[in-house]
Amino acid sequence: MPTVADVVAEVVRHYPPAWAEEWDRVGLVLGEPSAPVRRVLCVVDVVPETVAEALDAGVDMIIAHHPLLLRGVSSVAPTTYKGRIVHQLIKADVALYVAHTNADVAVPGVSDALAARFGLLDLRPLKPAGPGTPAEGEGRGAGRIGRLPQPLTLAELARRAAAALPATAAGVRAAGDPERLVRTLAVCGGAGDSFLADATAAGVDAYLTSDLRHHPAGEHLATGGPALLDATHWATERPWLDDLAALLRAAPGVETLVSDLDTDPWTVHAASPHPDERAPDEPAADDKEPDREG
Ligand SMILES: [Zn+2]
Repeated sequence: MPTVADVVAEVVRHYPPAWAEEWDRVGLVLGEPSAPVRRVLCVVDVVPETVAEALDAGVDMIIAHHPLLLRGVSSVAPTTYKGRIVHQLIKADVALYVAHTNADVAVPGVSDALAARFGLLDLRPLKPAGPGTPAEGEGRGAGRIGRLPQPLTLAELARRAAAALPATAAGVRAAGDPERLVRTLAVCGGAGDSFLADATAAGVDAYLTSDLRHHPAGEHLATGGPALLDATHWATERPWLDDLAALLRAAPGVETLVSDLDTDPWTVHAASPHPDERAPDEPAADDKEPDREG
């Protein structure tokens, strides 16, 4: 029977830990390397809901995208949020392994799975792995750029994105001229704020990522950057779990489950009513206080 070490070896083969960013914390978080593994659960986030899913499914190992313990801790007491999770997993004999930015830069990696949802062609990295870094070369890097099979307006692309990505309460919002024609698209799974300038430099028509903010997004558009599509963080990274599961099913041949629990914090989306439907005593949108910095 495969062991935790066997599963780790397979993940490492595709996503070497050396490819991770320096600030990142990837690898085995807990679990005996010699412990047998029959069943694995792939998740984006290790949170109480996905831990409960793992325990219900009787898995022996969780492979997560986001580190459970990114920053230094001085306690894993069960009275703390993360300490409770650590206790639950150890007591249930469930190992935990993390592949994060090393899976982001890999080819195929997290953003390839996202690009595949749009059928993007002729893929290349949005930000190639830097010279002299362990991940350098062979098309590795953050995000992907590709050509849409057919041009779409930004409004059409936003609807396509909402349908093509895993369903979330928040859906997808877009910034820029809704009629703008999009032929080339950059995508980046997770928070892609820091690659706005790379998307502009690449000359793509639109950039889809998550966690975009008011000021950086507004300034990016005002200075002629590509149109923006903002999906939720989980929805942009969930597609990769299918790729991860597929490679574990192949070798070392463990039963692999994928979590479809939406771990985004956003659970409600209410579109503003059409002006005609607005109640007479509701303030108009332009009566509200101006946005403040921050
Ligand atoms: Zn992420």
